[in-house]
Formats: sequence, C-alpha cells, structure tokens
Amino acid sequence: MKMFLNGEWVDREERIEVINPYNGEVVDSVPSASPEDLEMAVKSAKEGFEELKKLSAYDKYKILSCAAKLLENNSEDFARELVLEVGKTIKEARGEVARAIQTLYLSAEEAKRLKGEQVIFDADPRGKGKFGMYIRVPIGPIGAITPFNFPLNLALHKLGPAFAVGNSVVHKPASATPLTNLKFTEILLESGLPRKAINVITGPGGTIGEGLVKHPELKMITFTGSRDVGLRIMDIKGYKKALMELGSNAPMIVTDTADVEKAAKKAVVGAFAQAGQSCISLQRVFVHKKVFDLFLSELVNGVKNIKVGDPMDEETGMGPLINEGALNRVKSWIDEAVEHGAEIVYGGNVLGKTLMEPTVLINVPEDVKLFQDEVFGPVVFVNPYENFEDAVKSANNSKYGLNAAIFTRDLNQAIKGFLELEFGGVLINELPTWRVDLMPYGGMKESGFGREGPEFVVKEMSEIKMMGIDLS
Ligand code: NDP
Repeated sequence: MKMFLNGEWVDREERIEVINPYNGEVVDSVPSASPEDLEMAVKSAKEGFEELKKLSAYDKYKILSCAAKLLENNSEDFARELVLEVGKTIKEARGEVARAIQTLYLSAEEAKRLKGEQVIFDADPRGKGKFGMYIRVPIGPIGAITPFNFPLNLALHKLGPAFAVGNSVVHKPASATPLTNLKFTEILLESGLPRKAINVITGPGGTIGEGLVKHPELKMITFTGSRDVGLRIMDIKGYKKALMELGSNAPMIVTDTADVEKAAKKAVVGAFAQAGQSCISLQRVFVHKKVFDLFLSELVNGVKNIKVGDPMDEETGMGPLINEGALNRVKSWIDEAVEHGAEIVYGGNVLGKTLMEPTVLINVPEDVKLFQDEVFGPVVFVNPYENFEDAVKSANNSKYGLNAAIFTRDLNQAIKGFLELEFGGVLINELPTWRVDLMPYGGMKESGFGREGPEFVVKEMSEIKMMGIDLS
C-alpha cells in the first residue's frame, strides 16, 4: 500500500514489509518515509487545519458519522485485514471493528457538543458591569502515534476527536500494523474530510516517530504505546501538549466473599484475549487464601479449553504473539519467575515461532519482571493473600496504574479498594480488561496521563478562548 501525504497517495522505493504474525508470510509492504516526507506531511496538516477549522459543527458531525457508516458497511473486510496484520483472532478483530464504529459515532456527537460557558465576572467585586464567556477552539495540527495491538480503534480514539474539534492530524501507525489505518483513510476521504486534514506517514518510530514528536509546527503529540517510548517522547517533545496512553500490568483482587466462579471465568478472557497483548490484559491476580484453590482450579479448567492456532479460524480462541522476539521475551520472563520460586500450573510451552500456550503461574515473587513489568503476552499469575490491605498493597506495588479490579460482595472492601488502588480505573466485579469507548480511560503513575474517550479527549485537544465585555 502507499502512504497518504499532502492529499495524495505516495509511494517510495524503500519499503517496510508487513508480516502475518501467524505464518510469517508477507501480507503487504508500505513505504519507509524520509525526513522530507515528514516535512511534507506537517505542511499539509497545517493547510488542512485551515480548511478544517472553517467547517461547521454539523459538517464535522456528518463526516464522522458517514465514516462510521462506511466502516460498518465494510466491517468484515477490515476485520480480516486486522487478523492478517495483528494476528488477533477473527472474533477479536470483529470486536475491534465494532468498537471502532462506536468510537467514530461518539466522536461525531462530540463535534456537536464542544462548547464553552458563561464566566460569572460579577461574582468578583471587580467584575461588576462586565460580561464574560469562553469557547473552545481547535489547537492546530496534531501528531498521533499508535501501537500495533488495536491499530484501528486506538487510532480512531485520536483521529475522531481531533476532527470533531477541528484539528488536522499527521498519524504514524505502528510499522508492524499500518494497513488498516491506510485502508481507513479511504473511508475518511469518501466521507468528505478535507484531503490535507489527514496524513498517514509510514516509517520507523526511531526516525519518523521522533521527527514527528520534535516537530515545532505540531501543537500536540497524542501517543499510545509502551512506557519506555512514552518516557522518551516526553524528553524530546519540546513545547507542545502531550497525551500519553502507556502500558500496564493489570491486577485483580478476588476476596473471600466474591463470586469465585464468575471471577475465574472472566479471568480466562481477561488474561488471554489478544494473546495477552492488551494494555489492560489481566496479569496479576491476588486471591484470598480461603478461595485460592477454588479460583485456581476454575481458572485452569477454563484455560484448558482455549484453542490456540490460526487466528482466521472461527474456532480459534487465541492467536500468535506479534513476532518471535516478543515470544522469546515472554518466555524468558516466565523462566526468571520460576528461577525465583514461582510455579507453572498450566502451559509454559512454546508451540511455534510466535505461538505459545496460555500460561498460569502461582506464587510469583514481587521483585521479578513478571510481577513488576508489563508481560504483554499470554501469561497470568495467581498469588494468595490473607489481608485485604496486603492485596491492595501488592496490587499497588508497580510503576503502572491503568486499570485494576476487585471481585467482592463486601461493599466496604469495594469502596476502600476503589479509593486506595492507584489506578486510572477500578472495576468492581468486572475485569480490569473491560472498557467501553465512551468512558474516561487512561493511567496513573507511569501508565500515562490525560484521558481518552471522545468526550474527554476533545477537551485535551482544544483550548479555552475567553471573551470579556465591559457593559458600561
Ligand atoms: P511501542 O511503544 O513499541 O510503539 C508504539 C508506537 O510508537 C509505534 O508506532 C512505534 O513505531 C512508535 N515509536 C517507537 N519508538 C519511537 C520513538 N522513539 N519516538 C516516537 N515513536 C516511536 O508499542 P507497541 O506498538 O509495541 O505497543 C504495545 C504497547 O502499547 C504496550 O506497552 C501497551 O500496553 C501499550 N498500549 C497502551 C494502551 C493504552 O491505551 N494505554 C493501549 C494499547 C497499547 P514503530 O512501530 O515503527 O516502532
């Protein structure tokens, strides 16, 4: 495929291959952009911004809702493309497309809602006889950088709200998974988006991504990806806004009053959907010792039924990891945990270059990578606890803080946990992996800052402009 710059489809001789993670076949290739291409993209976004900011709220609503409808009409095509480039199962891919459609509809609605309010000047003695109000205005061209695991929906969490506000975008998708984003650009154009308002540039993160981050003409960088890259971006971004949606190692606490069967059944999905390659994948489970054995046996029974294999097969429950390097890293973290006293109770074996068994461990010590870092693979561990306070402490013992969960029937514990867990979202009797696209979503600590969800991100992507009038 070609990349989309300056209102045109653009090709380059140097190309990046997109590999099917399941079978290693080349799905397609995309151009590897140069620094000159980046300049062209930003220049185009500046021009696109001038056009976009003149559109009415209704125009923007129409473009985004039309894009949602077109995506709906082509959803199976997009789902199949996602399977090929990401390796997620066809069912997961259909789920991502369904969510992406909602993200677009939600963004379309925000185009109609972004408003200011009156400022009560005369609440201050010095404000007597004055009238004040503010509006929200677009900020300018935005740089968007997205990860491989939900290429479509996570990009739309940036593009949709940006267009709803009236900001143009230069988007750099993950090099492993640029195809659905390029395909979606056709939908945006067909929906009537000004051609220069969207630029999709393909190229390595280290050069094109960094060039985008540093570019002085971009007013904001919105990034979803790993913590390490997020920290690097914060170091080099210069004078511009930033929104950071980074990684995590989601915990879940199962108390002795919980519906243990329900918690275990959900844990199977939370830990192994997308082969664990989700920022809120369930990684760490803390279970009260009274219900530990029951939880573990229910969990393992559920995991045994996961069929690992070809993600295009309707029966497959878990597909491959994104590449061999990812699998080797995950395996080495399991080995490290075992060397330090953890026990594998299910799985642990490699099934192919990118396929591995869903793996369950117990008694993982708090100082190993599998506890402290983001495994981003099909691995979950279960540790027993005696006191609720200790479980909360263990859950908080992490540099990450995206989503956490508590399964309990005890209202006090639910509320206490909600208040004390240092996470951007706390789910009660539901997985930390659960998300609807309208909710405020984002992390504490090194899981990032700012909140996505169209209603919230339009505020990050706009600026307040105040007007004051002297009425005397
Ligand atoms: P990476 O951080 O490796 O890459 C994300 C994007 O950043 C890619 O487009 C990549 O380009 C680009 N990039 C890489 N290096 C740089 C750089 N130096 N400067 C600018 N851009 C750069 O993440 P993954 O794609 O591996 O995605 C997985 C990570 O994303 C996990 O940590 C996961 O938790 C997180 N994530 C967070 C979510 C959230 O909402 N909080 C949601 C989904 C994922 P290239 O591909 O060319 O290297």
